[in-house]
Amino acid sequence: MKNNILENPIFKFFKEISNIPRGSGNEKGMQEYLVNFAKERNLPFYKDKYNNVIIYKKTNNDKPIILQAHTDMVCVKDVKSKTDFQVDPIIFKQKGNLLQAKGTSLGADDGIGVAIILDILDSDIPVNIEAVFTSEEETTMCGAYNIDIKELKSKEMICLDGFEGNTIITSSASFTDFLIKFNNEKLLVDSANLSTYKLIISGLEGGHSGFDIDKNRGSSHKLTAELLSKIPNTYINSFVGGHNYNVIPSKTETVFSTATSEKDVKNIVKQVYLSAKRQYKNVKINCIKQLRNSIVLKNGEKFLNFILSFNQGVFFKDDDNYIVASQNLSEINSEQAFIKIGLRSSDKSKDAEMLKNLKVLCKKFDFDGKVIDTQPAFNTFKNSKMLEQLIKTGDNPKIVKMHIAVECGIFQDRVKGLDVAIISPTITNAHSTQETLDINSTIQTSNWLKKFLSNRK
Ligand SMILES: [Zn+2]
Repeated sequence: MKNNILENPIFKFFKEISNIPRGSGNEKGMQEYLVNFAKERNLPFYKDKYNNVIIYKKTNNDKPIILQAHTDMVCVKDVKSKTDFQVDPIIFKQKGNLLQAKGTSLGADDGIGVAIILDILDSDIPVNIEAVFTSEEETTMCGAYNIDIKELKSKEMICLDGFEGNTIITSSASFTDFLIKFNNEKLLVDSANLSTYKLIISGLEGGHSGFDIDKNRGSSHKLTAELLSKIPNTYINSFVGGHNYNVIPSKTETVFSTATSEKDVKNIVKQVYLSAKRQYKNVKINCIKQLRNSIVLKNGEKFLNFILSFNQGVFFKDDDNYIVASQNLSEINSEQAFIKIGLRSSDKSKDAEMLKNLKVLCKKFDFDGKVIDTQPAFNTFKNSKMLEQLIKTGDNPKIVKMHIAVECGIFQDRVKGLDVAIISPTITNAHSTQETLDINSTIQTSNWLKKFLSNRK
């Protein structure tokens, strides 16, 4: 390896971590590694059945601080890669100032966070640390949900699970899964003058409902509902599309039957397509005539009006133009009678307002909607001493709010009075085989954190 970065203990630890298989749910090896680290240094530690580890370092009688990172990684590989993530190490190479794995994800998210913390535990900075290493962040966050918080005395926490160097993340969003069940009873209609079509709207960009919700990528559900509402005398046979709560829908398949002439149908489809194409350049609209189908949704019109009435996207922005709250109509399946909606918010009152509006909308259409699951948000305290000190010891860091749910939200929710902020080195294309870690940014982040800890009172 060039410049022998492995002489730097941070990268030596990162290399050791990379040798341990650690896809989410497979963190046993990481737990053993961290426990051995503690034992070798005579540091007290906590471990649990969820593969969480806490390592304690006490050097004086000052208040401790939590440094936190997650031990699991997202395992993805190229088609050609032979890596077996259950047993094989992650092999990485240096390209100039970057580290990248060979045909797999790198796992700098969040292996480098773990490595930075281990290096700090080995330093002689006179500070009391509770080093918290959590499991399964990338999937269920069950580590953070189940760690015994009675084991923690700190009221301040710096998390090392971000993506941008020289940046402090001071807010995340809660995420709520809202599930609607509706009556999908079918009805046999007089089919004498009906024609049936299959309509597929696809090619929209979709994306992550946290990162991409304000990028005007459209919704295949909304576009479908708009198109269908323009065709007079129409019944809906079925309406299916979208994925998980956190994915913006990019493809919707419907079957509809109508008394409108084929010529008029094609014309309306063409008009909607031409207008949509101006906004979404890869949009595709396919409308194909099918065998006549006279079994239709009894409440089809109501169902369509619900989709039309739903405000997809940003619900509220703050004065700095950050998204505070947003909602995503994600998956719809008329055959299984459900609609999934994902809600995000960094502000409790906006969250409540959004949820209230949604419940009112459900009531109006006689739908049965309820919250299935919620992940909490975090906000660095107003007048936070920790934040002030982080800014003071940094190199004019950027302050950023994130519109996604992160582990720190669970900690702030569970540990009363816990102040939280996130810093990290620059990691690009995380969760992909193109994931890279910026070496200089890693060293800068570590130096910054050490300076912050050294100056802490
Ligand atoms: Zn992460």
